[in-house]
Amino acid sequence: MKTARITTGRELPIGKILCIGRNYVDHIRELGNETPSAPVVFMKPASSVIGDGGEIVIPAYSANCHHEAELALLVGHGGKNIPEVEALASLAGYGVAIDLTLRDVQDELKKKGLPWDIAKGFDTACPLSEFVPAERVGDPQQLTIIMTVNGEERQHGNTALMINPVASIISHLSTIFTLEPGDVILTGTPAGVSRIVPGDRLTAEIPGVAMLRVSVKA
Ligand code: ZN
Repeated sequence: MKTARITTGRELPIGKILCIGRNYVDHIRELGNETPSAPVVFMKPASSVIGDGGEIVIPAYSANCHHEAELALLVGHGGKNIPEVEALASLAGYGVAIDLTLRDVQDELKKKGLPWDIAKGFDTACPLSEFVPAERVGDPQQLTIIMTVNGEERQHGNTALMINPVASIISHLSTIFTLEPGDVILTGTPAGVSRIVPGDRLTAEIPGVAMLRVSVKA
């Protein structure tokens, strides 16, 4: 079983991983997607998680794996129909994740109107940092997200640019899925996604919150 670790030493077994797509205008533009009227929601299985220092294995059925650095939320006490004003208080912590995406596979599936699971949920598709306790983050809409590959900066975004802010994401998701302790929410990626290849060293960082270093199996 995969667990989410909080820097206080507390651990929670990871439940479902809910992901928001197309939540930053600049990233929607770079992929040529339409801005959704409601948040795009998909899931990754807990089995796709690797931790800091882990190794990404790109599946043989893809030739184009992309990194997407994202603010990650850890649910502490969940519920159904959580109002926006109570949403942030339901979190146990904040961290950083890399939503690995097999872009070539996803593009084919999208064209056919098929689900994305094999492009988003394969083993090692969800590198996830430790979580800092939620009370240590003042405003989740004022966080910088930086992604470097082999020391070169590829993504540099800010959560101020989210279309759906964190409280609204939690509230919306809780109308569809009962949120439970240990659930993880990925909040979408800013612009700058790009291909990774075997041997690459990836660092995703939200300064003052979390840092995650992983490599791609050579
Ligand atoms: Zn994503």
